[in-house]
Amino acid sequence: MPITGKTKLLGVIGDPVEHSLSPAMHNAAIAHLGLDYVYLPFPIQKENLARALDGFAAIALVGFNITIPHKQAIIPLLAEVSPVAQAIGAVNTVWRSEKGWEGTNTDAIGFIAPLRELECNWRKITPVILGNGGAARAVVAGCVELGCSEIRVVGRDRGKLDKFKLSWQDTPFAGAVRVHLWDELPTLVSETQLLVNSTPVGMSPHVDRSPLDEATLKQLPVGAIAYDLIYTPSPTRFLQLAKKCGAMAIDGSEMLVQQGAAALGLWLQQPIPAQIMRQALLENLQSRIEGKKEIGEEKVIGEERNEQNSVSR
Ligand code: NAP
Repeated sequence: MPITGKTKLLGVIGDPVEHSLSPAMHNAAIAHLGLDYVYLPFPIQKENLARALDGFAAIALVGFNITIPHKQAIIPLLAEVSPVAQAIGAVNTVWRSEKGWEGTNTDAIGFIAPLRELECNWRKITPVILGNGGAARAVVAGCVELGCSEIRVVGRDRGKLDKFKLSWQDTPFAGAVRVHLWDELPTLVSETQLLVNSTPVGMSPHVDRSPLDEATLKQLPVGAIAYDLIYTPSPTRFLQLAKKCGAMAIDGSEMLVQQGAAALGLWLQQPIPAQIMRQALLENLQSRIEGKKEIGEEKVIGEERNEQNSVSR
Protein backbone atom coordinates (compact mmCIF):
# COMPACT_ATOMS: atom_id res chain seq x y z
CA MET A 1 0.00 0.00 0.00
CA PRO A 2 1.50 3.41 -0.92
CA ILE A 3 2.25 5.80 1.95
CA THR A 4 -0.01 8.86 1.85
CA GLY A 5 -1.16 11.59 4.22
CA LYS A 6 -3.76 9.13 5.52
CA THR A 7 -1.27 6.40 6.44
CA LYS A 8 -1.38 5.63 10.17
CA LEU A 9 1.85 5.46 12.12
CA LEU A 10 3.22 2.79 14.46
CA GLY A 11 6.78 2.29 15.59
CA VAL A 12 9.44 1.26 18.06
CA ILE A 13 11.55 3.57 20.19
CA GLY A 14 14.98 2.74 21.58
CA ASP A 15 18.60 3.70 21.61
CA PRO A 16 20.00 1.99 19.64
CA VAL A 17 17.08 0.86 17.52
CA GLU A 18 18.66 0.35 14.11
CA HIS A 19 19.05 -3.41 14.60
CA SER A 20 15.45 -3.94 15.67
CA LEU A 21 13.70 -6.79 13.88
CA SER A 22 10.27 -5.39 14.75
CA PRO A 23 9.82 -3.20 11.63
CA ALA A 24 10.31 -6.27 9.43
CA MET A 25 7.83 -8.36 11.42
CA HIS A 26 5.16 -5.67 11.82
CA ASN A 27 5.31 -4.29 8.30
CA ALA A 28 5.04 -7.82 6.89
CA ALA A 29 1.83 -8.39 8.89
CA ILE A 30 0.46 -4.94 7.93
CA ALA A 31 1.14 -5.64 4.24
CA HIS A 32 -0.49 -9.06 4.50
CA LEU A 33 -3.60 -7.50 6.04
CA GLY A 34 -3.63 -4.79 3.34
CA LEU A 35 -3.84 -1.99 5.93
CA ASP A 36 -2.82 1.64 5.52
CA TYR A 37 -0.29 1.63 8.37
CA VAL A 38 3.48 1.80 8.56
CA TYR A 39 5.76 0.75 11.44
CA LEU A 40 8.94 2.78 11.85
CA PRO A 41 12.03 2.63 14.08
CA PHE A 42 12.54 5.87 16.07
CA PRO A 43 15.96 6.38 17.68
CA ILE A 44 15.15 8.33 20.85
CA GLN A 45 17.80 9.25 23.39
CA LYS A 46 17.03 9.07 27.12
CA GLU A 47 16.83 12.81 27.60
CA ASN A 48 14.32 13.15 24.74
CA LEU A 49 11.81 10.56 25.90
CA ALA A 50 9.17 12.94 27.32
CA ARG A 51 9.45 15.26 24.30
CA ALA A 52 9.12 12.28 21.97
CA LEU A 53 5.84 11.29 23.62
CA ASP A 54 4.46 14.79 23.15
CA GLY A 55 5.60 14.73 19.54
CA PHE A 56 3.99 11.35 18.94
CA ALA A 57 0.70 12.69 20.36
CA ALA A 58 0.97 15.72 18.07
CA ILE A 59 1.35 13.55 14.95
CA ALA A 60 -1.35 11.11 16.16
CA LEU A 61 0.90 8.07 16.25
CA VAL A 62 -1.37 5.11 17.00
CA GLY A 63 1.06 3.17 19.19
CA PHE A 64 4.63 2.07 19.63
CA ASN A 65 6.91 -0.54 21.12
CA ILE A 66 9.70 0.25 23.53
CA THR A 67 13.12 -1.24 23.82
CA ILE A 68 16.31 -0.50 25.75
CA PRO A 69 16.79 1.95 27.50
CA HIS A 70 13.22 3.23 27.89
CA LYS A 71 11.21 0.25 29.16
CA GLN A 72 11.25 1.35 32.80
CA ALA A 73 11.78 5.09 32.28
CA ILE A 74 8.55 5.47 30.32
CA ILE A 75 6.31 4.26 33.16
CA PRO A 76 5.93 7.60 35.02
CA LEU A 77 5.18 9.33 31.71
CA LEU A 78 2.13 7.18 30.98
CA ALA A 79 -1.47 7.97 31.94
CA GLU A 80 -2.13 4.32 32.73
CA VAL A 81 -0.02 1.17 33.09
CA SER A 82 -1.53 -2.33 33.07
CA PRO A 83 -1.17 -4.43 36.26
CA VAL A 84 1.09 -6.94 34.49
CA ALA A 85 3.45 -4.21 33.26
CA GLN A 86 3.47 -2.71 36.76
CA ALA A 87 4.41 -6.07 38.26
CA ILE A 88 7.07 -6.75 35.63
CA GLY A 89 8.30 -3.19 36.08
CA ALA A 90 8.61 -2.54 32.37
CA VAL A 91 6.41 -1.46 29.48
CA ASN A 92 7.00 -2.66 25.93
CA THR A 93 3.78 -1.56 24.21
CA VAL A 94 2.04 1.83 24.30
CA TRP A 95 -1.14 3.08 22.67
CA ARG A 96 -3.10 6.31 22.65
CA SER A 97 -6.44 6.50 24.47
CA GLU A 98 -8.69 9.30 25.69
CA LYS A 99 -6.63 9.33 28.91
CA GLY A 100 -3.36 9.83 27.06
CA TRP A 101 -0.64 7.21 26.50
CA GLU A 102 -1.37 3.83 28.05
CA GLY A 103 1.13 0.99 28.38
CA THR A 104 1.40 -2.73 28.93
CA ASN A 105 3.92 -5.52 28.58
CA THR A 106 3.37 -8.31 26.05
CA ASP A 107 6.55 -10.29 26.82
CA ALA A 108 4.76 -12.66 29.19
CA ILE A 109 2.15 -13.41 26.49
CA GLY A 110 5.00 -13.99 24.04
CA PHE A 111 6.83 -16.27 26.44
CA ILE A 112 3.87 -18.54 27.13
CA ALA A 113 2.61 -18.75 23.53
CA PRO A 114 4.69 -21.83 22.55
CA LEU A 115 3.99 -23.44 25.95
CA ARG A 116 0.24 -23.10 25.49
CA GLU A 117 0.56 -25.36 22.45
CA LEU A 118 1.68 -28.22 24.71
CA GLU A 119 -0.52 -30.46 26.75
CA CYS A 120 0.77 -29.92 30.27
CA ASN A 121 -0.81 -29.63 33.65
CA TRP A 122 0.90 -26.36 34.52
CA ARG A 123 -0.50 -26.35 38.04
CA LYS A 124 1.71 -29.33 38.81
CA ILE A 125 4.86 -27.83 37.28
CA THR A 126 7.40 -25.79 39.23
CA PRO A 127 9.46 -23.89 36.64
CA VAL A 128 13.12 -23.09 37.24
CA ILE A 129 14.31 -19.82 35.74
CA LEU A 130 18.01 -19.09 35.29
CA GLY A 131 18.75 -15.39 35.80
CA ASN A 132 16.96 -12.61 37.63
CA GLY A 133 17.09 -9.76 35.12
CA GLY A 134 14.40 -8.00 33.08
CA ALA A 135 13.39 -10.98 30.95
CA ALA A 136 13.07 -13.24 34.02
CA ARG A 137 10.35 -10.90 35.28
CA ALA A 138 8.23 -11.50 32.19
CA VAL A 139 8.87 -15.24 32.51
CA VAL A 140 7.62 -15.20 36.11
CA ALA A 141 4.45 -13.36 35.05
CA GLY A 142 3.97 -15.81 32.17
CA CYS A 143 4.38 -18.86 34.41
CA VAL A 144 1.78 -17.53 36.87
CA GLU A 145 -0.55 -16.89 33.95
CA LEU A 146 -0.06 -20.53 32.90
CA GLY A 147 -1.19 -21.64 36.36
CA CYS A 148 2.13 -22.47 38.07
CA SER A 149 1.86 -21.76 41.78
CA GLU A 150 5.59 -21.81 42.57
CA ILE A 151 8.38 -20.42 40.40
CA ARG A 152 12.03 -20.89 41.31
CA VAL A 153 14.28 -18.09 40.16
CA VAL A 154 18.00 -18.84 40.26
CA GLY A 155 20.72 -16.20 40.43
CA ARG A 156 24.36 -15.87 41.37
CA ASP A 157 24.09 -12.88 43.70
CA ARG A 158 22.20 -13.17 47.00
CA GLY A 159 21.68 -9.41 47.25
CA LYS A 160 20.13 -9.18 43.77
CA LEU A 161 17.97 -12.23 44.44
CA ASP A 162 16.60 -10.72 47.65
CA LYS A 163 15.86 -7.48 45.81
CA PHE A 164 14.16 -9.46 43.04
CA LYS A 165 11.92 -11.26 45.54
CA LEU A 166 11.06 -8.02 47.32
CA SER A 167 10.16 -6.30 44.06
CA TRP A 168 7.12 -8.58 43.65
CA GLN A 169 5.70 -7.54 47.00
CA ASP A 170 2.20 -6.06 46.65
CA THR A 171 1.68 -7.69 43.26
CA PRO A 172 -0.52 -10.72 42.51
CA PHE A 173 2.69 -12.64 41.71
CA ALA A 174 4.33 -12.25 45.14
CA GLY A 175 3.28 -15.62 46.59
CA ALA A 176 4.67 -17.59 43.66
CA VAL A 177 8.25 -16.33 43.56
CA ARG A 178 11.01 -18.27 45.33
CA VAL A 179 14.67 -17.39 44.90
CA HIS A 180 17.67 -19.72 44.93
CA LEU A 181 21.40 -19.52 44.52
CA TRP A 182 23.16 -21.11 41.55
CA ASP A 183 24.75 -23.91 43.63
CA GLU A 184 21.28 -25.33 44.39
CA LEU A 185 20.74 -26.06 40.71
CA PRO A 186 21.45 -29.80 40.55
CA THR A 187 18.52 -30.42 42.93
CA LEU A 188 16.28 -27.79 41.36
CA VAL A 189 16.88 -29.15 37.85
CA SER A 190 16.02 -32.68 38.93
CA GLU A 191 12.63 -31.45 40.16
CA THR A 192 11.44 -29.35 37.23
CA GLN A 193 9.58 -30.01 34.00
CA LEU A 194 10.32 -26.49 32.71
CA LEU A 195 13.83 -25.05 32.77
CA VAL A 196 14.19 -21.55 31.32
CA ASN A 197 17.43 -19.76 30.44
CA SER A 198 16.84 -16.03 30.87
CA THR A 199 20.55 -15.20 31.09
CA PRO A 200 22.46 -14.01 28.02
CA VAL A 201 24.89 -16.95 28.37
CA GLY A 202 25.26 -18.67 24.99
CA MET A 203 24.18 -15.65 22.98
CA SER A 204 26.13 -14.89 19.85
CA PRO A 205 29.12 -14.47 19.65
CA HIS A 206 29.73 -16.72 22.70
CA VAL A 207 27.90 -19.57 21.08
CA ASP A 208 29.97 -22.30 22.73
CA ARG A 209 28.77 -21.32 26.22
CA SER A 210 25.89 -22.75 28.19
CA PRO A 211 24.59 -21.63 31.58
CA LEU A 212 24.50 -25.29 32.66
CA ASP A 213 26.77 -28.20 31.80
CA GLU A 214 25.69 -31.56 30.47
CA ALA A 215 26.05 -33.28 33.85
CA THR A 216 23.52 -30.87 35.40
CA LEU A 217 21.15 -31.08 32.45
CA LYS A 218 21.20 -34.87 32.74
CA GLN A 219 19.31 -34.37 36.01
CA LEU A 220 16.24 -33.15 34.09
CA PRO A 221 13.28 -35.50 34.49
CA VAL A 222 12.02 -37.37 31.44
CA GLY A 223 9.89 -35.18 29.16
CA ALA A 224 11.13 -31.87 30.62
CA ILE A 225 11.11 -28.71 28.53
CA ALA A 226 14.26 -26.60 28.11
CA TYR A 227 13.41 -23.08 26.97
CA ASP A 228 16.07 -20.54 25.97
CA LEU A 229 15.00 -16.92 25.48
CA ILE A 230 17.97 -16.48 23.16
CA TYR A 231 17.17 -16.78 19.44
CA THR A 232 20.59 -16.12 17.91
CA PRO A 233 22.05 -18.65 17.60
CA SER A 234 19.33 -21.23 17.43
CA PRO A 235 19.67 -23.74 18.89
CA THR A 236 22.01 -22.46 21.61
CA ARG A 237 24.54 -24.74 23.26
CA PHE A 238 22.14 -24.95 26.25
CA LEU A 239 19.35 -26.27 24.02
CA GLN A 240 21.70 -28.64 22.20
CA LEU A 241 22.85 -30.16 25.49
CA ALA A 242 19.33 -30.29 26.91
CA LYS A 243 18.09 -32.08 23.79
CA LYS A 244 20.96 -34.53 24.06
CA CYS A 245 19.74 -35.24 27.59
CA GLY A 246 16.24 -35.97 26.30
CA ALA A 247 14.50 -32.62 26.87
CA MET A 248 12.18 -30.81 24.49
CA ALA A 249 13.81 -27.58 23.25
CA ILE A 250 12.16 -24.20 22.63
CA ASP A 251 14.15 -21.16 21.48
CA GLY A 252 13.34 -17.45 21.93
CA SER A 253 12.13 -16.70 18.41
CA GLU A 254 8.48 -17.54 19.06
CA MET A 255 8.48 -15.30 22.14
CA LEU A 256 9.75 -12.46 19.98
CA VAL A 257 7.10 -13.08 17.32
CA GLN A 258 4.24 -13.47 19.78
CA GLN A 259 5.03 -10.41 21.90
CA GLY A 260 4.97 -8.46 18.63
CA ALA A 261 1.74 -10.07 17.46
CA ALA A 262 0.11 -9.26 20.81
CA ALA A 263 1.19 -5.60 20.50
CA LEU A 264 -0.07 -5.33 16.93
CA GLY A 265 -3.36 -6.91 18.00
CA LEU A 266 -3.77 -4.22 20.66
CA TRP A 267 -3.24 -1.44 18.12
CA LEU A 268 -5.26 -2.88 15.24
CA GLN A 269 -7.98 -4.65 17.27
CA GLN A 270 -8.13 -7.55 14.85
CA PRO A 271 -6.57 -11.03 14.50
CA ILE A 272 -2.88 -10.88 13.59
CA PRO A 273 -1.17 -13.28 11.16
CA ALA A 274 1.63 -14.47 13.47
CA GLN A 275 2.82 -16.86 10.77
CA ILE A 276 3.63 -13.90 8.50
CA MET A 277 5.54 -12.20 11.32
CA ARG A 278 7.42 -15.43 12.07
CA GLN A 279 8.39 -15.83 8.41
CA ALA A 280 9.59 -12.20 8.22
CA LEU A 281 11.65 -12.66 11.38
CA LEU A 282 13.29 -15.87 10.20
CA GLU A 283 14.03 -14.42 6.75
CA ASN A 284 15.51 -11.33 8.32
CA LEU A 285 17.69 -13.31 10.71
CA GLN A 286 18.81 -15.56 7.87
CA SER A 287 19.69 -12.68 5.55
CA ARG A 288 21.66 -11.02 8.35
CA ILE A 289 23.63 -14.23 8.90
CA GLU A 290 24.31 -14.53 5.15
CA GLY A 291 25.22 -10.84 4.83
CA LYS A 292 27.64 -11.20 7.69
CA LYS A 293 29.29 -14.26 6.19
CA GLU A 294 30.15 -12.07 3.22
CA ILE A 295 31.57 -9.20 5.25
CA GLY A 296 33.58 -11.35 7.63
CA GLU A 297 33.54 -12.68 11.12
CA GLU A 298 34.85 -9.53 12.84
CA LYS A 299 31.75 -7.44 12.07
CA VAL A 300 29.44 -10.34 12.89
CA ILE A 301 30.62 -10.40 16.48
CA GLY A 302 29.95 -6.73 17.24
CA GLU A 303 26.66 -6.57 15.41
CA GLU A 304 25.14 -9.74 16.78
CA ARG A 305 25.84 -8.70 20.33
CA ASN A 306 24.05 -5.44 19.63
CA GLU A 307 21.21 -7.13 17.87
CA GLN A 308 19.98 -9.61 20.43
CA ASN A 309 20.53 -7.04 23.18
CA SER A 310 18.53 -4.31 21.52
CA VAL A 311 16.33 -6.44 19.42
CA SER A 312 13.79 -7.76 21.72
CA ARG A 313 11.25 -5.48 20.09
P1 NAP B 1 19.44 -8.65 32.00
O1 NAP B 1 18.36 -7.80 32.56
O2 NAP B 1 20.80 -8.09 31.78
O3 NAP B 1 19.56 -9.94 32.95
C1 NAP B 1 20.48 -10.96 32.72
C2 NAP B 1 20.48 -11.94 33.88
O4 NAP B 1 21.42 -12.97 33.54
C3 NAP B 1 20.95 -11.35 35.20
O5 NAP B 1 20.23 -11.91 36.26
C4 NAP B 1 22.42 -11.78 35.27
O6 NAP B 1 22.89 -11.96 36.56
C5 NAP B 1 22.36 -13.12 34.59
N1 NAP B 1 23.66 -13.50 34.04
C6 NAP B 1 24.41 -12.82 33.15
N2 NAP B 1 25.54 -13.49 32.88
C7 NAP B 1 25.51 -14.61 33.67
C8 NAP B 1 26.42 -15.69 33.86
N3 NAP B 1 27.58 -15.76 33.21
N4 NAP B 1 26.06 -16.66 34.71
C9 NAP B 1 24.89 -16.60 35.40
N5 NAP B 1 24.01 -15.59 35.26
C10 NAP B 1 24.31 -14.60 34.40
O7 NAP B 1 19.01 -9.24 30.59
P2 NAP B 1 17.52 -9.59 30.12
O8 NAP B 1 16.90 -8.40 29.50
O9 NAP B 1 16.83 -10.26 31.26
O10 NAP B 1 17.78 -10.62 28.93
C11 NAP B 1 18.25 -11.93 29.19
C12 NAP B 1 18.27 -12.73 27.88
O11 NAP B 1 16.93 -12.88 27.38
C13 NAP B 1 19.07 -12.07 26.76
O12 NAP B 1 19.74 -13.07 26.04
C14 NAP B 1 18.00 -11.43 25.90
O13 NAP B 1 18.40 -11.26 24.57
C15 NAP B 1 16.89 -12.48 26.01
N6 NAP B 1 15.55 -11.94 25.73
C16 NAP B 1 14.82 -12.52 24.73
C17 NAP B 1 13.55 -12.07 24.46
C18 NAP B 1 12.74 -12.72 23.37
O14 NAP B 1 11.74 -12.13 22.93
N7 NAP B 1 13.10 -13.89 22.92
C19 NAP B 1 13.01 -11.00 25.21
C20 NAP B 1 13.78 -10.43 26.23
C21 NAP B 1 15.05 -10.92 26.48
P3 NAP B 1 23.51 -10.77 37.45
O15 NAP B 1 22.35 -9.86 37.72
O16 NAP B 1 24.06 -11.46 38.62
O17 NAP B 1 24.54 -10.12 36.57
